[in-house]
Amino acid sequence: ILRDKGVVQWKYATCGYCSTGCAMEVGLDADGKAVTTRGVADAPVNRGKLCIKGITEAGILNASGRGTEPLLRAHSYDPWQSVDWNTALDRTAAQFQRIQDKYGRDAVAVVSTGQILTEEFYTLGKLVRGVIGTNNYDGNTTLCMASAVSGYKRSFGSDGPPGCYDDFSHTDCLLAFGSNLPEQHPVIYWRLKEALEQRRFPIIVVDPRVTMFAQFADIHLPITPGTDLVLLNSLCHVILEEGLADEDYIAAHTNGREDFAALVAEYDPGMAATITGIDEDTIRHVARLYAGAGAAMSIWTMGINQSTHGSDGVCAINNLNLITGNIGKPGGTSLSITGQCNAMGTREWSSCSGLPGYRALENPAHREQVGSFWGVDPAFFPEQRGRFMTDIFPAIESGQIKALWLVATNPMTSMPNTGRIRKTLEKLEFCVVQDAYADVEATQYAHVYFPASVWAEKDGCFTNTERRVNRVTPVSAPLGNSRPDLWIFNQLAKRWEQGRRMRFPESASEVFEEMKALSVGTGANGQPRMLDISGMSHDKILAQRGIQWPMRDGDETGTPRLYADGVFQFADGKAKLLALPWADNNEKPDSDFPFWLNSGRVVEHFHTRTRTGKVGNCNKFSPTAYMEMNPDAARELGVENMQYVRLVSRRGDAIVLAQLTQRVPRNMIFVPFHFHDCVNRVSLGLLDPHSRQPAFKQAAVRIERVDQA
Ligand code: SF4
Repeated sequence: ILRDKGVVQWKYATCGYCSTGCAMEVGLDADGKAVTTRGVADAPVNRGKLCIKGITEAGILNASGRGTEPLLRAHSYDPWQSVDWNTALDRTAAQFQRIQDKYGRDAVAVVSTGQILTEEFYTLGKLVRGVIGTNNYDGNTTLCMASAVSGYKRSFGSDGPPGCYDDFSHTDCLLAFGSNLPEQHPVIYWRLKEALEQRRFPIIVVDPRVTMFAQFADIHLPITPGTDLVLLNSLCHVILEEGLADEDYIAAHTNGREDFAALVAEYDPGMAATITGIDEDTIRHVARLYAGAGAAMSIWTMGINQSTHGSDGVCAINNLNLITGNIGKPGGTSLSITGQCNAMGTREWSSCSGLPGYRALENPAHREQVGSFWGVDPAFFPEQRGRFMTDIFPAIESGQIKALWLVATNPMTSMPNTGRIRKTLEKLEFCVVQDAYADVEATQYAHVYFPASVWAEKDGCFTNTERRVNRVTPVSAPLGNSRPDLWIFNQLAKRWEQGRRMRFPESASEVFEEMKALSVGTGANGQPRMLDISGMSHDKILAQRGIQWPMRDGDETGTPRLYADGVFQFADGKAKLLALPWADNNEKPDSDFPFWLNSGRVVEHFHTRTRTGKVGNCNKFSPTAYMEMNPDAARELGVENMQYVRLVSRRGDAIVLAQLTQRVPRNMIFVPFHFHDCVNRVSLGLLDPHSRQPAFKQAAVRIERVDQA
């Protein structure tokens, strides 16, 4: 029935929602209108499968709220006026230049996304780093993947998930931290189930909530929120104490064993049990299971990353895999499951945290390489990265930043403590929102709106969780007067004299060739650069349905696993075992706010619902926010099932519908994060010191009956 929609032509794309990276075809009717999608049967990622979001994705091309004309107004309280592109672009460039002349280069901030194409990320980075010159530039990936990036860099010397989905078919033990695969990444979950049908191996899920994945696990560890670092240190304690570590691998490929061993010696399972809530025998059993497996792998998502010690948590997972020799071999890996469809693309090429191709602003040689390649004086680049997204908004609040350009991001719903974000945006002298949808919440505070094309109206690539670069082709023309983000960046660059001097290629394939040329060279360890894509082309990527980097010039295929040779990205080629003490620094339940607040996804929605909130079945099946509450706790408060209640924290409050379930323990509340004016009105803004990622999942709240408030 889904397929019978008058399709006369199918065109190739990669799904524009999550980082699984499913290859799909979009079906067009006789009028060239996208009417449906189907999975690509010979695609290595999804082998024909799509989840509910992918199946309904054609609906977003013509969904309500699509912006079709540039809009302009003098004040955010004025009505919008439709204008032509030149007027909108001229006004934006003039305002950025005026504000930079008056307050300095860093008075303009740019916050982008994990949703646009890699060629667009590269071009935006070139524009921001090489032309506009502000160091207040980051992506919304700081809300989801920054701790993974930071942890990989600290352990291995570079970002880059070392494993792949095929590891499920080789592993002997899977340990998942804070990851609810069936709802977050349904097609990766299907890959896991497919692997299990071939060969049984234990699944251990660490999660304070009885998620769908926890229900599927062989062992569920319902950990106390914010204590995963204690559990990981304790697992390593047992492995070292019982002589289960791979000492040959440690000696050959790591530094730091002595300090690391001294630190984990303090985390005996008895002590860890009192903090984590996981009993001593279970900790020992899991440690033995993991270390005793021929190959063992760890996966994680926001349960680790969104914490005041998210980066340390990632490093601790890496420690576990390093001491058991589980990096770079089939079935043995440390695999962060990323969030957005092109979170990896922004990490690799956007220059948010540095310069393109995993180059660092702090490295003079890298500044020189990129400066000479782009035709920019390297002295124009800052010598260290600027503010993260989570530090940009406080700088607006304090008056240090006067102008903000938001590219495909929605901080009014996604940031912690959104009440404060609302007041912050009101302070801007100038705000530009670039998005496919004119009704995204932040446009309320904008002076210019750029209508961007959606994913399948554009040309380029995404990189998925397993470093697979895959193609998005323009299946239909941009709606109305919307334009691809690449076109918008190029047009804006021409408004600066420096931009006119530089080369900004117009087509995605030309940009890709430029990225390829910049991807070669020698890394810090004396080996060829890890993020080398010189062997790829748009045509080869399409033909292979995605290719994993590195793929060097002359290679026929990509690389499924990093570090297979045991050579890491530090100068001496060795990984770092890090001593990671746990500090009890979360907000915790107390007599005023007696519940832990946890947040996460539902399968039907993607991020802040700017798209899935408008698509038939996704919204029909999940139309409103709700709050999971344990029936015992509800009984004490007189809360009944399907009753509206007020969720209150030290930051604010929100009204939600109570759903009573044993999925959450008595002292926990769970709320999906997708809905506007909901959980992030109350969530916690404490940040990880390394990644600056917020601790969304460890706030304290109380519940009030609405009829008693
Ligand atoms: Fe798209 Fe992710 Fe669903 Fe695949 S699993 S169809 S990439 S949303």
